[in-house]
Amino acid sequence: MAFSSLGLSGPLLQAVREQKYANPYPVQEQAIPAIISGKDILGISKTGSGKTAGYVLPILELFQTRASKGDRYVGALVIVPTRELAIQVNDVFKTFSKHLPQTIKTTAVFGGVSINPQMMAVRFTDVLIATPGRLLDLIENKAVHISRADILVLDEADKMLNLGFKEEMDKILALLPEKRQNILFSATLNNDVNDIQLQLLREPFKIEIIEEKTENSIEQIEQVAYNVPLEKKGPFLRYLIKSENMEQVLVFASAIRSADNIVGKLTKNGIQAAAFHGDLSQSARVENLRKFKNGNLRVLVATDLAARGIDIQGLPFVINFELPRSPKDYVHRIGRTGRAEAQGKAISLLCEDDQHHFKIIQKKMGKKVEIKESADINLQGF
Ligand code: AMP
Repeated sequence: MAFSSLGLSGPLLQAVREQKYANPYPVQEQAIPAIISGKDILGISKTGSGKTAGYVLPILELFQTRASKGDRYVGALVIVPTRELAIQVNDVFKTFSKHLPQTIKTTAVFGGVSINPQMMAVRFTDVLIATPGRLLDLIENKAVHISRADILVLDEADKMLNLGFKEEMDKILALLPEKRQNILFSATLNNDVNDIQLQLLREPFKIEIIEEKTENSIEQIEQVAYNVPLEKKGPFLRYLIKSENMEQVLVFASAIRSADNIVGKLTKNGIQAAAFHGDLSQSARVENLRKFKNGNLRVLVATDLAARGIDIQGLPFVINFELPRSPKDYVHRIGRTGRAEAQGKAISLLCEDDQHHFKIIQKKMGKKVEIKESADINLQGF
């Protein structure tokens, strides 16, 4: 896919060429046409994915057919959590707008500096990039109006909520026009971000960029699978944890009930374990994850859905108690192992019904996994 097939006009493509971007990144491939077509966007991707150009380019494209909104009315509003990001995003707007026939004025405003120069600078701004607190100050001072801003971007929404900007955000949202296009980017889709997106977005186009380990680093993960009869899986899991001296292991289950069962059996057998899934309250999940990360919990049993977007990396062991449905999830699961200083190990337990599916997973991953027999192992006492 080339930049020229995403719906961007000549002057923007020229600026892209000058940046020496060879091809669009995945987030750009998806976001650019969708934003140009006027859709709301829910983008889950981290800094470094190219998300900034992913929304800056199409917004500039949309602005070419718009009249300026006038003196103190901004046309598009980009809300960011920090001063650094505000400056960075503004730079990206300036970089890409330089060849446009019609000048588009972009301005960054943020707290921690005197407000007076900013009151002047925001005049005739088309695109305003702002941190929430300073934006509200400027609005209160009537330096800027957002009631005609019909494009809204919330960038790094998770960070914004972590920094406690929810109240400011709600105030800002109340001042925007009802009819507008909303674009939300966040590194993770946690419960708080989900609440905001439900409140904000209408039938959003969803983009999720999962950072998968490259094939190269998959090579660094030791993968092994065991054929285990269904009824022996429980004892076999306990055998693995004890015989390999696993002090920290993430176990994946295919469903919430199964995760709870595993936790129950482990605990009954004196192995400290807790669950991590969507049926738990946000606070229980945070607490279990914290204990696990701090080394105060030996086993965390998770479902794919809950574990997605949560940053548990660099684990020594991952066990697939049950296989995930998609090969992509398999790679995502095992990609959480492997520390800088040590190789990670991923172990999958296969029962009879899994054989065919595991073949597909290996094929998609492009790597064969050694399959061992558990029958030779004495599970007495586990
Ligand atoms: P971001 O995730 O928006 O902070 O972008 C991360 C970095 O990737 C920035 O330094 C961009 O200049 C760069 N970048 C963005 N898109 C591309 C692309 N298509 N090709 C090469 N570099 C890019």
